[in-house]
Amino acid sequence: MSNSDSISVDDIINYLKTEQEIYGPFSISGRELDLSDQKDELSTINDLEKTQSSSEDITKSLSPAEKLAACSTLDELKELCNSAEGLRTDLENTNLVFGVGNPNADLMLIGEAPGEQEDRQGEPFVGAAGQLLNKILGAINFKREDIYIANILKHRPPGNRNPKPEEAERSLPYLEKQIELINPKILLCLGKVSGQTMLNRDDTLKNMRGKFHRFDSRELFVTYHPAALLRNQQWKRPTWEDVQKVRKRYDELNGKP
Ligand code: URA
Repeated sequence: MSNSDSISVDDIINYLKTEQEIYGPFSISGRELDLSDQKDELSTINDLEKTQSSSEDITKSLSPAEKLAACSTLDELKELCNSAEGLRTDLENTNLVFGVGNPNADLMLIGEAPGEQEDRQGEPFVGAAGQLLNKILGAINFKREDIYIANILKHRPPGNRNPKPEEAERSLPYLEKQIELINPKILLCLGKVSGQTMLNRDDTLKNMRGKFHRFDSRELFVTYHPAALLRNQQWKRPTWEDVQKVRKRYDELNGKP
């Protein structure tokens, strides 16, 4: 509202006085209204609204990086991701797939990007690959709700193609903030694209998988993507061996739950 449009406290009081003259005394919540008391009350509300709108103005003027740094909870981050145009792919009208699971998880899984089912439901790994992932987790005594699951991209790419490097680069700061807020001890990357993006190297899955890497203060492990296992049964055994190593390390690090 521009200043010329704004209504002053005096305008409101005068309006109410005129109404009172015409209709007689009136009450709010059973309390008869004495307009002589109202000016202070209305001024306080006005001041409060001014303070609120100036803090909203400050938030609006922050850069995307500053807005990201200002997030101190997963809910705040999710809200920011909802309006972050930079997280979108060139597929229109997709839903945000933020992540799911235990917000205090010590194990966080990172896939590549949401597919059709994930986009529809707004949750990662709910399609066929997700069913297999649930079984893999069950094999090492985890339920889905024990751990946290996210993706490199938070929106579905067209035709389920791999994330483009520039899309991954735009998404990474948001994912890193999510990791910081969840604060897991171990990151488990599912598939080559996830491993390459998190380790920031153009390497083969063969070179990256089967061992622990450092990611800041955390440990990072790379294994096969569950969708790849659906197409290549022979990779199930090495995946099973990989996740046993992850479970063992998780227990050594006193992972909770
Ligand atoms: N594949 C992924 O990498 N992530 C999902 O959420 C679903 C399938």
